[in-house]
Amino acid sequence: MATEYDLVVLGGGTGGYVAAIRASQLGMKVAVVEKRELGGTCLHRGCIPSKSFLRSAEVYRQTKQAALYGIETEATTLKFPLVQERKQKIVDQLHQGVKGLMKKGKIDTYYGHGRILGPSIFSPMAGTISIEHGDGQENTMLIPKNVLVATGSEPKTLPGLEVDQSFVMTSDEALNLTELPNSILIVGGGVIGIEWASMLADFDVNVTVIEYAKQILPTEDEAVAKEVQKLLKKKGVTFVTEAKVLADTVDKGEVVRLDAEINGEKQSFQAEKILVSVGRKANITNIGLENTDIVVDEDVIQTNAFYQTKESHIYAIGDVIGGMQLAHVASHEGIVAVEHMAGQSPLPINYLQVPTCIYSNPEVARVGLTEQQAIEKGYEVKVGTFPFQAVGKALVYGETDGFVKIVADKQNDDLLGVHMVGPHVTDMISEAGLAKVLDATPWEIAHAIHPHPTLSEVIGEAALAVDGKQIHG
Ligand code: FAD
Repeated sequence: MATEYDLVVLGGGTGGYVAAIRASQLGMKVAVVEKRELGGTCLHRGCIPSKSFLRSAEVYRQTKQAALYGIETEATTLKFPLVQERKQKIVDQLHQGVKGLMKKGKIDTYYGHGRILGPSIFSPMAGTISIEHGDGQENTMLIPKNVLVATGSEPKTLPGLEVDQSFVMTSDEALNLTELPNSILIVGGGVIGIEWASMLADFDVNVTVIEYAKQILPTEDEAVAKEVQKLLKKKGVTFVTEAKVLADTVDKGEVVRLDAEINGEKQSFQAEKILVSVGRKANITNIGLENTDIVVDEDVIQTNAFYQTKESHIYAIGDVIGGMQLAHVASHEGIVAVEHMAGQSPLPINYLQVPTCIYSNPEVARVGLTEQQAIEKGYEVKVGTFPFQAVGKALVYGETDGFVKIVADKQNDDLLGVHMVGPHVTDMISEAGLAKVLDATPWEIAHAIHPHPTLSEVIGEAALAVDGKQIHG
């Protein structure tokens, strides 16, 4: 007997489970179909476990530097299995929390591989959903009025650099390492590659980052990417940019060796492990899209601004539609989608107001256009930059590297972008996000008094610096 629902969510990751909770608050009868664990990539293989590792790396680094703060310690020893254990405890606790939220919202969870079967007499609009449980169990059938596809994404690899049991891994496998290698080649200097480079360097691993583009973090402001590279180099990370990995030359002996073409010349690199971090591919295969009119372009599902696909009762959100591929983006998209489904008029997301963060040391955070993007779009820009070095709290913290950079429109003072690199900027960026939402000018940001002594004073000073009026620099 198939059960009827107002909404069936395919995928219980950050996007899917948050959408399910909002739908239940709106009075819908909701089911979530999940083939692995509720919480998805972010909770089990992404944001949370990686940030737990980064925090351990930070404590290890700071403990080794305790003498700088007037504290004498015995030798500091890293016990990586305990770092793993701590990470798993946090993940497990949050996993229980998500399960509890499903229960509280009276949301049914079905475990198994979900697939859209297409319209039937029972479900003419959104199409029946079939769930394969495996183990010879009979498939479950659900009849939804609406479907939300939130199947997320998986790591990409490169030809010749597929995951194996000994040398080559993606972030999925790296998060389950039982011991750290002495050396690693990180192929891809994007967000995930840089977070791992920073963390592993703090854990005393010898790290080489091999990046195809001209700069690491190719989507960040050039000045920010340069600062990150400079500060990671100080930690001992080696960077090779404009390097094309020649994957067919990978040699797995005692250590692994790969060749890359740099400036037309072949160069060899070797290490105990390779971490491939070259982006994520949307989970669009084997979910029944062929039974629908849903459009897929550039390997992601296409939707309108309310996340409706070509099939008006099937919505899609999160990593599976590409774009910013971030947890907070996925969950916000999920909320907009179900509110639209429920006949409300949610505001479409303005992606230029969405903060993005990198949790390396130094941290990086951004909202809006980079200076280069603004110029390419034809803006005449004015820029204010202010260093952490010049504020008292940064000195007190002992973390003075980095800066805040504000990009504004010279014509009308519009805030175009805010870029931060340095201590705790992933927490500070929300002020810039709010400023973008409220359409604040740099003068208004500076006019909102920043308490002293705080790191946030750098934002106020950078805002003043846009018109050359900074006080402490
Ligand atoms: P997912 O979280 O991937 O969830 C999709 C779910 O669907 C999965 O649970 C999957 O098992 C399930 N599924 C797939 N197919 C089916 C099917 N056919 N039937 C049933 N279930 C199915 N983002 C941030 O904002 N901040 C960070 O710090 C951050 N760090 C990251 C670090 C790493 C190492 C990685 C890999 C990612 C990180 N991200 C971060 C990105 C973030 O994890 C994703 O953007 C987010 O998880 C996307 O949510 P989603 O719901 O779209 O997909």
